[in-house]
Amino acid sequence: MSIITGKTGLVGLLGEPVNHSLSPVIQNAAIQEMALDWCYLAMPCMPKDLSKVIPALRELNCHGLNITIPHKQEAIYSCKTISPLAKKLGAVNTLVPDSNGNWMGMNTDMEGFLAPLKNESWKGKKAVVLGCGGSAKSVIAGLEALGFIQITIVGRNIHSLNSFLQDMKSSNPDLSKKELLLKGIMHNEPKLIDEIESSHLIVNATPVGMHSNFENKFDSSKIPLGESIWKNLNSETILYDLIYTPRPTAWLNFGKAQGCRQIDGLEMLIQQGAASLRLWSGEKEVPIEVMRKAAENHLRH
Ligand code: NAP
Repeated sequence: MSIITGKTGLVGLLGEPVNHSLSPVIQNAAIQEMALDWCYLAMPCMPKDLSKVIPALRELNCHGLNITIPHKQEAIYSCKTISPLAKKLGAVNTLVPDSNGNWMGMNTDMEGFLAPLKNESWKGKKAVVLGCGGSAKSVIAGLEALGFIQITIVGRNIHSLNSFLQDMKSSNPDLSKKELLLKGIMHNEPKLIDEIESSHLIVNATPVGMHSNFENKFDSSKIPLGESIWKNLNSETILYDLIYTPRPTAWLNFGKAQGCRQIDGLEMLIQQGAASLRLWSGEKEVPIEVMRKAAENHLRH
């Protein structure tokens, strides 16, 4: 999109808030490179308006939508069809127009999460996931697909932890099979130290460590579970933080000092966006490198 004309089509993001989203930067860079006459906009939408806004955007011939917090679950009800993965996760992050004037609901978060991990062998390995919210569901489905044999979810609230485990197992019977042990543990249980020491991959799926306008300096409350539990981290363990601002997070910095390999959330963001763009455009190849450069440039300034 070099210039918006009367023919320019709309694609965009629905969520609340959306004003800090990197998706417009990433998607518009790719749209321009692909010479699509589209413009990607971040559109704030309150929960009470969602069920009116999604069908209205379809009426306006919107070419595709991303859905973010807090609408990923609720947006399912505005879709005529849902992909098997979105159904399993109970959440959509991508809506694609069908030929009958409806939306198809899909989920590309798992594909994004897997991108930095998929060239390694994870069969038989153990993972710890911090947090049991929306993104933890895509993370667990991804870890299951990679062949992990034990996944331990760390929660801070016993009720949300238990209901998360119940939801996961009822929507995905494979998680109850005996080759994979999916279990929950509270953040303050002493045996969490053993889980952390023996795991091959630890994923932070909490917002702890995310940059906000008020906090720039190092602050130990920015490290999930606090600083002390990470002092005996095994240097073979890989740390994967879903957060991408700041880069690196305090937790990844801490892990680096212990000799651990670190992965941040930027590649996940780019790859889930690239997967959405493939679905909207019908193109197999999208310019990932252009998307990555646009995101990195934007974050540097
Ligand atoms: P969410 O649904 O709100 O879940 C957050 C989870 O973290 C919940 O289990 C919550 O526990 C826990 N939590 C929140 N504050 C905590 C704290 N101070 N200490 C310990 N646990 C805490 O959020 P989400 O959608 O899963 O997102 C989580 C993070 O992943 C966010 O930072 C988000 O930006 C990032 N993310 C990145 C990407 C990407 O593409 N890179 C994609 C999705 C998400 P309670 O249930 O007790 O509140």
